[in-house]
Amino acid sequence: MNAEKIIVVGAGTAGMVCAIRAAECGAQVVVVEKDSVVGGTLHLSAGHLSAGGTKRQAEKAIEDSPAQHYDDVMRISKNTADPAIVRLATNLAPKTIDWLQALGFAFEPQTPAFIYGHTPYQKPRTYWGVSNYEGTEIKWAGSAILETIMPLWNKLVREGKIALHLNTKMRQIVRNEAGQVTAIIASDPNRPDEPGLTSSVVFTGSAVVLTTGGYGANPDFFHQMHPDWRLVSTARGTSTGDGALAAMQIGAQFRNAHTHTATLGGLETEPNSGRTNFWQNWARVSNAKDRKPREIYVNAHAQRFMDENMDDPDPREKAAEAQPGRKFWVVFDAHALHQTGGNIVPQWSADRLDEEAEKGIVVWKADTIAQLAQRAGLSAPQLEATVGRFNEFVENQNDQDFGRTYLQNAILKPPFYALLTHCFSLVTFGGLAVNHDLCVTDHHNQPIEGLYAAGEILGGGATCGHAFVGGMFLTPALSFGMYLGEKLASTR
Ligand SMILES: Cc1cc2nc3c(=O)[nH]c(=O)nc-3n(C[C@H](O)[C@H](O)[C@H](O)COP(=O)(O)OP(=O)(O)OC[C@H]3O[C@@H](n4cnc5c(N)ncnc54)[C@H](O)[C@@H]3O)c2cc1C
Repeated sequence: MNAEKIIVVGAGTAGMVCAIRAAECGAQVVVVEKDSVVGGTLHLSAGHLSAGGTKRQAEKAIEDSPAQHYDDVMRISKNTADPAIVRLATNLAPKTIDWLQALGFAFEPQTPAFIYGHTPYQKPRTYWGVSNYEGTEIKWAGSAILETIMPLWNKLVREGKIALHLNTKMRQIVRNEAGQVTAIIASDPNRPDEPGLTSSVVFTGSAVVLTTGGYGANPDFFHQMHPDWRLVSTARGTSTGDGALAAMQIGAQFRNAHTHTATLGGLETEPNSGRTNFWQNWARVSNAKDRKPREIYVNAHAQRFMDENMDDPDPREKAAEAQPGRKFWVVFDAHALHQTGGNIVPQWSADRLDEEAEKGIVVWKADTIAQLAQRAGLSAPQLEATVGRFNEFVENQNDQDFGRTYLQNAILKPPFYALLTHCFSLVTFGGLAVNHDLCVTDHHNQPIEGLYAAGEILGGGATCGHAFVGGMFLTPALSFGMYLGEKLASTR
């Protein structure tokens, strides 16, 4: 039985910073991590951070503030985000960016910048690190954050200020008779489970901080929270909602599942696997700012359902989510495939897409629209009608159905292609309810003493509401981890 002060469950984005700051402020810190490595979702995150009022902005003469960042988040979320959580997140965000800068974070030179993958902010307020990932146009910058904090992490572990337990999975949270959380029970990595017998280790402390991430890799939990969604996810395999499930078992409140928002363009290359890989197989259909559409999108009824040229990702996401099965086909011709200006699947060349179409798993090709429809499982007469009508719109430069103004590509030159894309889960939006101090609360909104949470376990609904707001997962995860580490160390 250990008698430690602060127990951090999960050594990912929020957990590592929480443990670092608690240890630096003099606390004894125990970190329990079920994986064999630290870093969590930082290993695959795009690494976009957002903050208003940073030193980096001042260096570039950009006038901004936490208050303006707050207003922008609430505008983009249409006031559906949690005002108290967003206020805390935006107030803390500049300190987080300045902290990374002081640790030597290698900012992409053009940052802070505007980005268009989500509804843009009104100020250049998005930062990311220099990408170490080559081969695509996409920046994979989460690892730049991990690389920045690793030396400090390793030092504190080496000095014994952070006691790190890898391969140790938290199973249960323990409350005493007064209702205070005093311990967690975890699997014992030194004594593997035998049939009918589970080996456990107990960690006791004055506070438990849950930083176990989201639940996008747990289809059962996801289905329970979103019964009408079919999960197609790119979440890290460790994001199984363990912390939320354990907290719910002791009475914690789970909220905001209804705000779940998908990312567009997931390709399920293994049919019915429920998995997609954002970095390898992703169709660029999330906005028209980064790439003009040479295609149309059709739903399972082979009908168009939106102006494919909308710049703003939010109405696109909402329109796609309203389609049957939350999926749609991107339909185009040979001319569009070989046009310059970015491929529809940025990681695939035109030749690769053509090869994939031969396989006929997520993309199909044919010499006629009717054949294409048959191969892709769509109604042939309807797809012919939809494509024919769109071609008329191009000819007349007038989209009578959706008002699309970019009408450069009629779909005329065989072979024709149909690429099946899914609304997929990059992150999860439901999460644990917390009070203004990030103490987990019960169904009566009362704090569960000794139990805190930070990161995606709070759910995107808290920081983004029913929308995607740039950097508002990663930055609050880091900031709230830091906040709890410092606060709990000073009150221990
Ligand atoms: C492809 C991708 C791109 C993204 N890009 C962005 C972006 O650009 N900007 C942005 O703001 N957000 C982005 N996000 C989201 C953001 O990266 C995550 O929300 C954030 O990193 C989650 O941090 P976390 O600390 O909550 O969880 P994680 O970093 O996932 O850490 C959780 C840790 O807890 C451990 N754990 C889980 N269960 C247990 C248990 N029972 N016992 C012990 N340990 C446990 C896990 O193994 C893991 O190490 C992206 C996400 C993905 C998947």
